Amino acid sequence: MIRINWYFIETHTHLGLIKKNSEEVIREAVAEKVIKMVNIGIDLVSSKASIDLASRFDGVYSAIGFHPHEAKFLTSENLKGLKELAKQPKVVAIGEIGLDYYWQHSSIESQRKAFIQQIYLARDFRLPIIIHDREAHLEVLDILDKEAKGSKILLHCFSGDLDFARLCIERGYLLGIGGVVTFPKARKLVEVIQYAPLENIVLETDSPYLTPHPFRGKPNEPKYIPLIAEKIAQLKKVDLEVVARATSINAHSFFGLKDKE
Ligand SMILES: [Zn+2]
Ligand SMILES: [Zn+2]
Repeated sequence: MIRINWYFIETHTHLGLIKKNSEEVIREAVAEKVIKMVNIGIDLVSSKASIDLASRFDGVYSAIGFHPHEAKFLTSENLKGLKELAKQPKVVAIGEIGLDYYWQHSSIESQRKAFIQQIYLARDFRLPIIIHDREAHLEVLDILDKEAKGSKILLHCFSGDLDFARLCIERGYLLGIGGVVTFPKARKLVEVIQYAPLENIVLETDSPYLTPHPFRGKPNEPKYIPLIAEKIAQLKKVDLEVVARATSINAHSFFGLKDKE
């Protein structure tokens, strides 16, 4: 293998939802220099599966939690199950957790309750938190201000405007940027990226969803991370390597990943 001193880190994929052999997905990603990835759970079953997969592949790490859609299923028994999983060595974050007021597959009340319970879980285990926030920006911020003081926060698939980005950046949060930035109608996100320091940006695909241009309409995979990085590099008028290095450093320190070439 060619020795490289820069590469990409994928901070948000759902390998279990991609309809393709995970080994192949990982291999194709590595071929594109996407050498580490965080595989995200959305409930207890997918969180367990994510840990199993991480135990089989070097560069694969696991985040565990109940997605806001699944909040209504976070019983005390399931919470206990999550606590057991949180002890596993390759669990690097709690997430994705948060609020989704757009779909509301779980009631607002159960979403808020599950969100707060899982913030406490993250605090107990000193794990960073990956947030899913859809049309609930200020409410998410309010809960984080009250309940997550001192925790490291990443807002995945950042969908706020410039004002909201300012509020997040001043709190030291990371913004997860994905395929949406390559869409022609991404004006709001383009503004955010032009404003946000690279120190606050990490790369993600949210695969199998949100496939970047020019593969939009096809299933997304971690191997498309470089397309997102290229777009960010173009918007910030820097070299691709600059984006790769900065976002990798951010992901390393956020998740506490061990250094490895
Ligand atoms: Zn999400
Ligand atoms: Zn996701």
